[in-house]
Amino acid sequence: MSDFDVDLFVIGAGSGGVRCARISAGYGARVMIAEEYRIGGTCVIRGCVPKKLYVYASRFADDFADAAGFGWSIPQAPTFDWNALVAAKEKEITRLSGLYRKGLDGAGVQVVESRAVIEGPHEVRLIADGRLVRARHILVAVGGAPVREPNVPGVEHAITSDEIFDLPEFPRRLFVVGGGYIALEFASVFARLGAEVTVAMRGDNILRGFDEDVRTTLRGGLVHAGVRFCFGALPTSFVRSADGLVVTLSDGRAVTVDQALVATGRRPHTRGLGLETAGVEMRPNGAIMVDELSRTSAPSVFAVGDVTDMNNLTPVAIREGHTLADRLFGGKDARCDYEHIATAVFTTPEVGVVGLTEQQARERYDVVDIYRTSFRPMKATLSGAAEKVLMKIVVDGASDRVLGVHVVGHDAGEMVQLLGIAVRMGATKADFDATMAVHPTAAEELVTMRTRTARFERNAAG
Ligand code: NDP
Repeated sequence: MSDFDVDLFVIGAGSGGVRCARISAGYGARVMIAEEYRIGGTCVIRGCVPKKLYVYASRFADDFADAAGFGWSIPQAPTFDWNALVAAKEKEITRLSGLYRKGLDGAGVQVVESRAVIEGPHEVRLIADGRLVRARHILVAVGGAPVREPNVPGVEHAITSDEIFDLPEFPRRLFVVGGGYIALEFASVFARLGAEVTVAMRGDNILRGFDEDVRTTLRGGLVHAGVRFCFGALPTSFVRSADGLVVTLSDGRAVTVDQALVATGRRPHTRGLGLETAGVEMRPNGAIMVDELSRTSAPSVFAVGDVTDMNNLTPVAIREGHTLADRLFGGKDARCDYEHIATAVFTTPEVGVVGLTEQQARERYDVVDIYRTSFRPMKATLSGAAEKVLMKIVVDGASDRVLGVHVVGHDAGEMVQLLGIAVRMGATKADFDATMAVHPTAAEELVTMRTRTARFERNAAG
């Protein structure tokens, strides 16, 4: 008879936790999962899924504008109903959350709707009914939560990405703090839905860490969509006034808006979780320290996903959860491959990237070749839209291996998913060149770029 009530207790029913619970139960493990909010976690409830639905909503603005060039006339100016979108989104995420629940139930996982707190290396307390559960293994998959930085007077009047999806009224004037994924995706969505959007950030350009050509191209596209940027400036106060919320900036400017969104990063959601009672080490920001096999400093406790603050992306959490289940209960020597993680930013234009930026490649390789093209997509020829597509391939000049691919434009996210396979497999530029094009597409440019745009050789004297 086992000393434990369950083989695995999972705290947090988001992407990573649900996957690990389901796969573990499939291997015959006795699994319990606790969730204090809604099953599905950030991705399904207030992240990737609702965000993408809003991105689709926003892009109709472009479709309506483009239609005339293709012979369509729209008798009345289209109107947008924010509350209808919120309701449709709610219906869909409720459906998805239900599917997650069904998957867990079907696999035989015990689902508990309660906050769970760790009380020892093998003990978890369910706050809802006070029950103490003894678990052979504990998986912490509680994700992260948005920060409210900079912490200036009145910041409590600002919202985060948690609240923006369900605003009771559409914000006609939106202020955004931050220049990363979340700030830009919402800036792009709300600008297209008809809001006046101002984005302020401490840096001198958006998307720090991305390829410079991507940053410049996306910035141009967002400015063209009407987004106003304030670089090197952050709010110093938020004050409610009769006309809205007055945001004062460090450069002296002030702007009055309906809502201010703070999108300056997320922090692991570990406060009050009792991790110290199990001897789990954390970084100063609350991130659980793990090795490449999701092991913490406590042998019975594991952590996957955003709570480790390493690769804060849904597919990584899912893969980590699955791999852990394979290792703990499936008898497999499974491992996650963290190389070449492709990623997309769902702005309009969209960004898709995999591998090294030009800058990173030049720091690491002696000879770096760049193939770069920027062109007007075919659809824009009739629609008259001013948009441009950017494609850039970064190649190791010595081995001809493709080190990175960067795309800005329609379907960049879709393209980069497939490019990720090629780059991960070690494709060379010659492999790209030998691949027959699909015509007429934008992606065909990726296999027809013959002329090198630049070659960088590490200074022979250096
Ligand atoms: P990001 O790290 O992408 O961006 C944070 C932004 O806030 C940066 O511009 C950063 O500036 C700025 N910032 C950070 N701290 C401060 C501070 N104290 N004061 C002022 N500015 C600050 O985080 P997000 O919140 O946008 O997203 C969180 C994570 O979620 C992302 O890293 C990503 O992994 C994931 N995500 C992925 C998406 C996708 O795959 N499409 C979509 C949304 C989120 P600086 O650059 O100067 O540091």
